[in-house]
Amino acid sequence: MRLLDGKEVSAKIKEDIKKEAAEFAAKTGRKPHLVAILVGNDGGSETYVASKMRNCELVGFDSTNIRYDENITEEELIAKIKEINKDDKIDGLIVQLPLPKHIDPEKVTEAIDYRKDVDGFHPINLGRMQRNLPCFIPATPYGIMLMLQHYGIGTAGKHAVVVGRSNIVGSPMSILLARNSNPGNCTVTLTHSRTQNLKEEVLRGDIVVAAIGKKNFITADMVKEGAIVIDVGINREVSTSTKSGYKLYGDVDFENVSKKASWITPVPGGVGLMTIVGLLKNTLEAAKGTIYAK
Ligand code: NDP
Repeated sequence: MRLLDGKEVSAKIKEDIKKEAAEFAAKTGRKPHLVAILVGNDGGSETYVASKMRNCELVGFDSTNIRYDENITEEELIAKIKEINKDDKIDGLIVQLPLPKHIDPEKVTEAIDYRKDVDGFHPINLGRMQRNLPCFIPATPYGIMLMLQHYGIGTAGKHAVVVGRSNIVGSPMSILLARNSNPGNCTVTLTHSRTQNLKEEVLRGDIVVAAIGKKNFITADMVKEGAIVIDVGINREVSTSTKSGYKLYGDVDFENVSKKASWITPVPGGVGLMTIVGLLKNTLEAAKGTIYAK
C-alpha cells in the first residue's frame, strides 16, 4: 500500500502557486484576491473558511472574510454578491455552504458571476466542465485530480466507483473521471443511497471515491484487492484526546482497507488539503484571466 499524501502534494503545489502569485503581483501591482462569505456560526464552516484565509496568506493572496449573522435575508446576501461581482479588485468569490434554511443555495450560487465562481458550483462552470471546456472545477474533485496527476497514476480504462452524488463532490467527480482527459477516461459507476447491492458495485472499482459523510462506511470486504481508494469524508467526533476537542474520521475504514488498497488517502492529511489547493489554483486562474479573459 502507498499513501496518497495530501501534505506532500499540497506543499509542492502551493510552492508553485506562491511563485506565480508573486509574478502576478510584480506585473499588476496587486495580489490575487479571494472573498469568502460566511453566514452564521456553523463550527465546521468556521474552520474551513479560516483555513482558506490562512492558506491565501501563505501563498501571497489577499483574502477577505465577510461575515453575516444567520438572520441576513436572501435579498441582502444577493445584493452583496452583486456588489462584489462588479469589483475589479476581487478575483474570486465563495459563499460557504451550508446556508441557513431560509436562503436558497441555488439562487445564491447563480448570483455569483461565473467568472469569479472559484468554487466551480455555477451551472455555467458545471456545464463547461461536462463539455471538457476551460472552467473552474469544484475544488475537491479538482484537488483529487491533481493528486492522481502528481503520483502519475494511470486511470485510463479503469473502472471507477464513486459513492455519493452531491453537487460539490460525487457528481462532478464522476464527470471528471469519465471525461476524455488525463487523469480521466475511466468507466464510471456513480452510486448513492438508492443504489442496490452497493457492496457488489464498490467491489468492481479499480478506483473507489468515498464521499458519503458516514464514518468508516467503506469496509475492507467492499474493496477489491489492489484498488486505489480516495476518502473524501470528514466526520468530526468530540474527543478529549486532541487539543482541538474533536477528532476527524474518513468515510473509509482506513486501518483495514489500507491492507487491500494499492493507494489510499489518509484522513486527515489527504483530500481536505487538496481541496484548498484546488481553490487556490482556481483563484490564481481567475486573477490571471486564463480561463475567462478579463
Ligand atoms: P452530501 O451529504 O451532500 O452527500 C452524501 C451522498 O452520500 C449523497 O449522494 C447520498 O445519497 C450518499 N449516501 C448517503 N448514505 C448512503 C448510503 N447508505 N449508501 C450509499 N450512498 C449514501 O455530502 P457531501 O458530498 O457534501 O460530503 C460527503 C463527505 O465529504 C462529508 O463527510 C463531507 O464532510 C466531506 N467533504 C469533504 C471535503 C474535503 O475537502 N475533504 C469537501 C466536501 C465534503 P443520496 O443522494 O441518495 O442522498
